[in-house]
Amino acid sequence: MVKKIPDVFHGLPIKRKLMAMIMATTLTALLLVSVVSVIYYVAEARRDMVHDLQMKSGIIGNRSAAAILYDDRKLAKEKLNAFSEKSAIEISCIYLPSGEIFAFFSVRRDENPCPKAPEYGHFFSKNSLKLYQNIIVNNERIGSVYIESNLSEINGNLLRYGLYVILLFFIVTVISYFISSKLQKVISDPISHLVDTTKAISGSGNYSFRAVKASDDELGVLVDAFNRMLTQIQERDKALHYAKSDLEKRVQERTRDLEEAKEAAEFANQAKSEFLANMSHELRTPMHAILSFSNFGAESIVSKTNEEELLHYFSRIRDSGTRLLSLVNNLLDLSKLESGKMDFAMKKGNLEKTVHSVIGELQALIRAKNLLIIVNPPADPPIATFDQLRMVQVIYNLLSNAIKFSPEGKKITVSIDSASAYDSAAKEKLPGLAVSVKDEGIGIPPGELGKVFDKFFQSSKTKTGAGGTGLGLAICMEIIKEHHGRIWAENNQEGGATFTFVIPKEQEDKKDAAA
Ligand code: ADP
Repeated sequence: MVKKIPDVFHGLPIKRKLMAMIMATTLTALLLVSVVSVIYYVAEARRDMVHDLQMKSGIIGNRSAAAILYDDRKLAKEKLNAFSEKSAIEISCIYLPSGEIFAFFSVRRDENPCPKAPEYGHFFSKNSLKLYQNIIVNNERIGSVYIESNLSEINGNLLRYGLYVILLFFIVTVISYFISSKLQKVISDPISHLVDTTKAISGSGNYSFRAVKASDDELGVLVDAFNRMLTQIQERDKALHYAKSDLEKRVQERTRDLEEAKEAAEFANQAKSEFLANMSHELRTPMHAILSFSNFGAESIVSKTNEEELLHYFSRIRDSGTRLLSLVNNLLDLSKLESGKMDFAMKKGNLEKTVHSVIGELQALIRAKNLLIIVNPPADPPIATFDQLRMVQVIYNLLSNAIKFSPEGKKITVSIDSASAYDSAAKEKLPGLAVSVKDEGIGIPPGELGKVFDKFFQSSKTKTGAGGTGLGLAICMEIIKEHHGRIWAENNQEGGATFTFVIPKEQEDKKDAAA
């Protein structure tokens, strides 16, 4: 079981703990050395003292042997006094073999300081060493001697020693404090630096901070591992940030796509409804006309009305039939173009001539609205490879729209360029043969300029007007695409709209070669 560190250590900074450890170790070692030295000194001093006292008792025995043999107590006392005083002995006694005290000496001048029957050998009391041994002459015991000596020398030395130890403790404490305060820095400085770095990072949330490695020991390894960990956290943070923004971007894109898809679906649905309404209108109007005029014709035959009136009825029936046919043709054309089943007869031709022939076809409508048609011819003859029939269809559509959406008496300008055309919306100059039809009509709402080429689309400006299927421009777009060209619409600054298409002069289509 791990012993708990005393509570007082818990709150201490690591440098204090290290200092406390160094000092505790030093002082404990010093204490141990001091205790062992004291024990050794006491043991040695006592051994020396016993030895010394044994020698003294031997001397006393020798000097008083004659006095005992001649029973001269006075002489014995004199010898005892003289030696004891000189030898720092406190009490000395000489006994006869019978145990009777023969002579004694006492520094305290006691009456009789000698014990009655002391034990043989030596023993220490609190303040003195006592020794008792026989006096032998010629292998015969003639008496015995008892000596008592105080321990003041040993005790005095011990006291001095203790004072030295205390002084030494004080000096060692001061020295070890200074040394440990220097040494602890080797360990505590890198740890404090690591703690400061950790605090700076957690305070600021900035993981670009790094701890500085100061050594190659375990603390150096710790700093390296800490820095590596920070790098990993930073990389993970970055990856997380990227993943988050990427996810947000993808969600936004997805939402936008869905919204666009939803709008497209709603628009398609609306376009379909409008198409159905328009289609019914477009079909019903000529059908009505056909039925009504054929009724009038039948009634005229019964009532024998004049031929002129009959001719009028027939021509109205023919016009309505033609209109119906063109509607059905439009639908058929578009479905053929979309399924790629439309055949193109690509041939070299002059686009200016095509323009003039279409204008000729539309003369009646132009005159009916009293419109002025101006054709700007190109510098060079506009010769290109195209399908004559389909190109007529495109120009016819653009011109008939311009006529349809122009008020009476306005001007329509057809410009032909044999070099290039400029798409102002795409800010792009496109090389090739270009034809533009500019009118002074109602124009197209800016947001719907691109949409007019969608199938069944009619601009918000013209929807309410009767007629139109929204298929003409979609067919034009498909035909121009088949010619590898581009068609677009723009509004004129002075009012009205301009429709332009551009096609390459040469077609690389194999149908071209066949033609
Ligand atoms: P339609 O004319 O049969 O409706 P189109 O595809 O030819 O079909 O034209 C689509 C729509 O484009 C028209 O309904 C009209 O709203 C708009 N548009 C086409 N030409 C012009 C023009 N010259 N001026 C204004 N709007 C036009």
